[in-house]
Amino acid sequence: MTKDITMTGGCMCGAVRYEATGDTFGVNHCHCKSCRRHTGGPVVTLAGYMADQVVFSGDERKIYNSSEGVGRAFCGNCGTPLTWEGVSSKRGGPIFEIHISTFDSPDVLVPNNHQFDSERISWFDVADNLPRFSEFNGDGMPLRHGPVIEGLPSK
Ligand SMILES: [Zn+2]
Ligand SMILES: [Zn+2]
Repeated sequence: MTKDITMTGGCMCGAVRYEATGDTFGVNHCHCKSCRRHTGGPVVTLAGYMADQVVFSGDERKIYNSSEGVGRAFCGNCGTPLTWEGVSSKRGGPIFEIHISTFDSPDVLVPNNHQFDSERISWFDVADNLPRFSEFNGDGMPLRHGPVIEGLPSK
C-alpha cells in the first residue's frame, strides 16, 4: 500500500461517508463481546487509523460511549456500525478503528491478527494461520496460530 492511498467508505444508506488517507496501522479481527454486541456479528474486523487520517462527510455520525473514553459510532439513519474510536496510549493519540465491511473496497485491507480470542464464541473460528492473542494484539505472546486444534463444537 502506498502512503497516498485514500480508502473510502460509509454506511448502508450513504448518509455518513468517510475517507481514510495513508496506511492503516493494522487490521484486526476482534472477538470481544463489546464489538460483537455493537455489530451483531460473531466477529468483527477493524482497520485502524490515526484520527487525523480520517475525514467524515455527510450526516454527523452518532456516537455511543460503550465505556469511558470509548466511542462506538454508527449512522443515525440506517444504524450501520462505523467505528471504535478513542485515544490509544499505544498509538499516542486519538484513533479510529473502522469496521471493515463499511469500506468500498475492503479486499485491500488484509487482516494480520485476531484479538480477544479469550472472548471468542466457541463454535466460531477462521481457517487462517494468523496469530491469536488472548486480549489486545501484541500484548504478550499469541495463544496460537491458526484455528483451535481440538476443533469446534458442532451438532
Ligand atoms: Zn446510513
Ligand atoms: Zn473488540
